[in-house]
Amino acid sequence: MPTYDRACNACGHAFEIRRPMSDSSPVKCPKCSGETRQLFKKVPAIFTRNIDHPDSPLDDMPGAEKMRKQADMAINKVMKDMNS
Ligand SMILES: [Zn+2]
Repeated sequence: MPTYDRACNACGHAFEIRRPMSDSSPVKCPKCSGETRQLFKKVPAIFTRNIDHPDSPLDDMPGAEKMRKQADMAINKVMKDMNS
């Protein structure tokens, strides 16, 4: 089940919910029952690049281990950006 980041429009409370993709009912704020909006995380460039350009030079890298390391680094960078 996918996890969604949401933020309350009324009190600003940010939280995560887990629910089926088919469920499109409104999500209420757990704190004040206010209306919430969807937050979109920045997707690390490495992922979009692979999806958009399957022929990307990244595919030539030796092994999935290096790939995962790069992905980790990209995620860490995004997290750092978000916290700063
Ligand atoms: Zn709220």
